[in-house]
Amino acid sequence: LSSNDQQVISAYKWLEKLYHYLLRYAKDGKEGHEYLVTRGLTEETMDVFKLGFAPNEKEFTASFLEKKGFQLQELIKVGILTNHGNEQITDRFAGRVIFPIRNHIGVTVGFGARAISGQEPKYLNSSESDLFQKSKLLYNFDQAKKHIRKQNEVILFEGYMDVISAYQAGVKNSVATMGTSLTKSQAQLLKRYVDTVIISYDADQAGIEATYRAATLLKEAGCIVKVAELKQGLDPDTYIQTYGGNAFLRNVIQASVTFMTFYMRFLKKDFQLHSEADQLQYVQTVLKELAKLESSIEREYYLKTLEDEFDLSMDSLKRELTGYIKKNP
Ligand code: ATP
Ligand code: MN
Ligand code: MN
Ligand code: MN
Repeated sequence: LSSNDQQVISAYKWLEKLYHYLLRYAKDGKEGHEYLVTRGLTEETMDVFKLGFAPNEKEFTASFLEKKGFQLQELIKVGILTNHGNEQITDRFAGRVIFPIRNHIGVTVGFGARAISGQEPKYLNSSESDLFQKSKLLYNFDQAKKHIRKQNEVILFEGYMDVISAYQAGVKNSVATMGTSLTKSQAQLLKRYVDTVIISYDADQAGIEATYRAATLLKEAGCIVKVAELKQGLDPDTYIQTYGGNAFLRNVIQASVTFMTFYMRFLKKDFQLHSEADQLQYVQTVLKELAKLESSIEREYYLKTLEDEFDLSMDSLKRELTGYIKKNP
């Protein structure tokens, strides 16, 4: 670690403590505390995730850090502080709830910060740096690791709040990306710890597209991929806060479908299935994906679905599939 990085880590350590203290015990953090209570979080959960509140007095943080002897310019570079046009140096996260982001060994290397009264953008993150690389980090990985190993399963969410609500409901083997698509290096990191990844993204068009992209990377990394589906418009946090953790485990996680089942549904949006030509195209595209499955029992299972849905004979489906397996051994 460079001495700059050490400075920045030390600043995060101080700020994490300060912001968390304010949120839990001080008048200056009351708004943040109230906000998180309306989101259904308990104080124990706020403590586990070291959630905090950056005070609304914008100069407070800079003067705090200056008194501790920090080089404020360095902290501007990593996006903790800001100085719009050389004016006063202020807290970039002022008035926001703070989510400390720890690396895989538990060192805080960045913050996510959520607006609590409609400010835009909704979330602000620390700036990208050698220390804080969103494409390599996974939120909550350090705490989830042992649960992930034990269960040989990890749940992949989109947002901080999904991870936190799941944790509070007793589901501890979960991680999230930070507003970016899952990357190859994150997929490879997960594969070192588990075989099965359950993707549980928001039930909107963006979430469904992102599920397909993440699944593709995870499969390339060698993971078994399952997809947990929610009713349109929900996200995992909303589901858990509405129906509870048990319902989430039973009706969403345990009911998650295989990648193939998700894919067969997902693919339909690209075809006009009332047209015969498109039906055939669709079936052929599915067969190409089926050809990649190793187990013939699995292949047969999905062939049966196609047989029923499109009124095709098992014989011809099998013959066609064999063709694809030969092309793609
Ligand atoms: P909340 O429940 O607090 O509204 P969320 O966790 O459901 O938020 P989403 O809007 O689904 O958040 O976004 C998922 C993740 O993407 C967030 O946790 C955050 O990391 C990131 N994100 C969302 N909006 C932004 C934004 N405007 N700028 C940067 N990152 C964002
Ligand atoms: Mn979303
Ligand atoms: Mn969401
Ligand atoms: Mn949400």
